[in-house]
Amino acid sequence: MKTYAYGFPRIGKKREFKKLIEGYWKKDLSEKDMLDGLKALESGIENTYKKDVESYPQAEFTLYDKMLDTALLYSVYTVENTAEYFDLCRGKNALKMTKWFNTNYHYLVPVLTDNFNPQLKREHLGGKEEPGSPLYLIGCFTFLKLSKGYERDKFRELLLRFAPCFREILSQFKNVHIDEPAFVMDLDMEEIDAFREFYREVIPEETNVTLMTYYDSVDFLEKLYDLPFKAIGLDFVNGKENLNIIQEKGFPDDKTLIAGIVDGRNVWRSHLEETKNIVEKLSQKVKKIHISNAGPLYHLPVSLDEEKSIPVEMRGRLSFAEERLKELSLIKKLCEGEDVKESWNSKITDFGINKNVHKRVASLDEKDFQKELSYFERNTLQRNELDLPLFPTTTIGSYPQTAEVRKMRSHFRKGDITEKEYGEYVKTEIQKLIRFQEDIGLDVLVHGEFERTDMVEFFAEKLEGILTTKNGWIISYGTRCYRPPIIYGDVSRIDPMTTEEIFYAQSLTDKPVKGMLTGPVTIIAWSFVRRDIPTYDVAFQLALCLRDEIMDYIKGGIKIVQIDEPAIREKTPIKKRKWNDYFCWAVQAFKLVSNVDPAIQIHTHMCYSEFGEILTYIKQMDFDVISIEASRSRLDILENIQKEGFNRQIGLGVWDIHSPAVPSIEFMKNVIKEACKVFQKENIWINPDCGLKTRGWEEVTLSLKNLVSAAKKIREEELAL
Ligand code: GLN
Ligand code: ZN
Repeated sequence: MKTYAYGFPRIGKKREFKKLIEGYWKKDLSEKDMLDGLKALESGIENTYKKDVESYPQAEFTLYDKMLDTALLYSVYTVENTAEYFDLCRGKNALKMTKWFNTNYHYLVPVLTDNFNPQLKREHLGGKEEPGSPLYLIGCFTFLKLSKGYERDKFRELLLRFAPCFREILSQFKNVHIDEPAFVMDLDMEEIDAFREFYREVIPEETNVTLMTYYDSVDFLEKLYDLPFKAIGLDFVNGKENLNIIQEKGFPDDKTLIAGIVDGRNVWRSHLEETKNIVEKLSQKVKKIHISNAGPLYHLPVSLDEEKSIPVEMRGRLSFAEERLKELSLIKKLCEGEDVKESWNSKITDFGINKNVHKRVASLDEKDFQKELSYFERNTLQRNELDLPLFPTTTIGSYPQTAEVRKMRSHFRKGDITEKEYGEYVKTEIQKLIRFQEDIGLDVLVHGEFERTDMVEFFAEKLEGILTTKNGWIISYGTRCYRPPIIYGDVSRIDPMTTEEIFYAQSLTDKPVKGMLTGPVTIIAWSFVRRDIPTYDVAFQLALCLRDEIMDYIKGGIKIVQIDEPAIREKTPIKKRKWNDYFCWAVQAFKLVSNVDPAIQIHTHMCYSEFGEILTYIKQMDFDVISIEASRSRLDILENIQKEGFNRQIGLGVWDIHSPAVPSIEFMKNVIKEACKVFQKENIWINPDCGLKTRGWEEVTLSLKNLVSAAKKIREEELAL
């Protein structure tokens, strides 16, 4: 038995990755200094691997994103230098980003045409031939499956066109690690036949190719057995069915099984005896086993070493990426009969248990999940209450988090200013923002979220039962990182979390101010979630805390509440057969949060509009208004939504805030007009497609002025009819 690991986080213990690259972008660092720094970081990662595992792939590193690197390798795009490379990532030629499987990592989406003909660019092949250290590659199947721009019926033909390039790679490298996570998707027979044909053709006898899959099980595992791979990697943590399949169908004697047994997606320390049991079960059917991580390690923070302030009883329950490597070496020892002396305490203690919370969740019944009045009845009440114009305008919540806002927060965190001083500062910002929104002429106002760093971490810090970390950074795309909180215990709300700012904002204006909350599914999706109780229970615990918050809003006279659920799509399981279970609790949790006085208008926000497939579930959430992206994806999607019988109000995201461009009045008017062909005009709201925290004030002012003008013009035109 050998240990193998892959996908170690590249961010660095002190976020060196981010600092080096952003330093170069800001011209504080020369290209050479940046690249030298990254080399050092990469070799540091190699040393970390070496300490605990016997083998790992080479050339996993990237300056931004591996999908983009793969696109360059096959000449989908050409770049001459680093500046051109980053231009594809974030410049004027930037590719669109989307979520990588059901994770919060975003990759750059390559766009290929039907007649694309891959050409190998050797300079983009990192690494050097070294026995025992395979070259890391994203497999052609996954690459193509996640790329866009070609007709789906050209899939097989296109895939086979990668064959000469792939053969060329294998003529240089005898040891290769191919990531094919797309093998855990629901594939049809044609796709399976296509990759079988491809891999049968391209792999010569003498090469050592490891095929890696993760995030779930491979439904057609046997179809891999006669392909010329020397090793197959499977996920036994997030793809539990893999074990059943092997127990039932066996595993080929001539291949090595790389058994992913330590979790790459969550931070709970492995139970060494239990993992040993899995290995033993596998050994009854499999001759050659290596043990590995289940899923790449970059979904975990780098190291627990950096978290000195986590209480000991919690530390003993956690493993980040470095600790996973250590676990692998311990499990190997344990399997080989060695006495593992280290106390690897993975017992779940009753730390964080709250009986009242349990009781409250246990006593929930149907009524808690079902609103008393239908949308139509609520709509009448709310329209009376709010008295808004046709095409009401609003924003999604946050306003520019300027350098000053961040500086004040960091002063406060360091203790340079008092809580009171910081609170005063936030209030001045709120005051300025309320005046700003009134001047611009928006109809429904927000407080701006200046006090929030991150829409999940902010609530995590306020709630009991959730831990936040100092250095638990994870890349969400490029150099952007976030710190997922750790939900370790029962979640409860001690005090109101957001009312002070919301009430203050409302006190300054006669226009309605929206209460702003992050929904339970998104809190769960962007955190590490305890595994000792079902996730739906965690969701209901969170939902109750948020509902209590809304009850407080209502007492303070707030009439509109927005519950953001941007992660509901991303958290959707990869396999369709798991959708029902997931949406069942996700929808219920949302309904639980929002089951309040029917005169209170409930909004939700999702940053995209590609929910064709999940629309049936979205509809069940029973909100009153949903704001979605509309400027980029435009009308076809809106039409689909309408066809599915969507009879709620819809906030059209007519300004794509991911781009610094200021949308013109004409452009936005057109989007609205087009939407009017599909939706009743009484149901249309006008807003940007997401929060404005990453934008600058100048663009925000210009764009919102245009947005309000567009709405006013359309109103006038409508009235003139
Ligand atoms: N209310 C949040 C904001 O405006 C929503 C962010 C999001 O959808 N990702 O920033
Ligand atoms: Zn959004």
